[in-house]
Amino acid sequence: MSSNKTGSESDRRDQMIADIRRDRERQEKTYRGRALKMFPWICARCGREFSGKRVRELTVHHKDHNHDNNPPDGSNWELLCIYCHDNEHSRDEVAQWYDETTPAGAQGASHHDNKPFAILKDLLKDKKY
Ligand SMILES: [Zn+2]
Ligand SMILES: [Zn+2]
Repeated sequence: MSSNKTGSESDRRDQMIADIRRDRERQEKTYRGRALKMFPWICARCGREFSGKRVRELTVHHKDHNHDNNPPDGSNWELLCIYCHDNEHSRDEVAQWYDETTPAGAQGASHHDNKPFAILKDLLKDKKY
């Protein structure tokens, strides 16, 4: 019998985040190659220059944060080093993941939002008689 049921929840979430990240990285490879041909290998934030193998530290950022928006002229792309890119995303990416995984706290909050409507419905029903 398995007794380690609790505690695996956060592990699963870590795994999910890793999967999302890997998926995104794979997806990025296609437009990354194009962006690297189009732009100089310089981080748009800190101005660091990259060359040779170190260009691996240079990533493509989407200005409108929409990874599906990849115009051929590269107008939605910005080359950022992994550090600046992480900085750029740390806030809203965490928010995104929280939204997707819906932890107990967030779920309770959204339920709370729906309650006034339910009460209103009941009040309207009451008025009928
Ligand atoms: Zn940078
Ligand atoms: Zn980005």
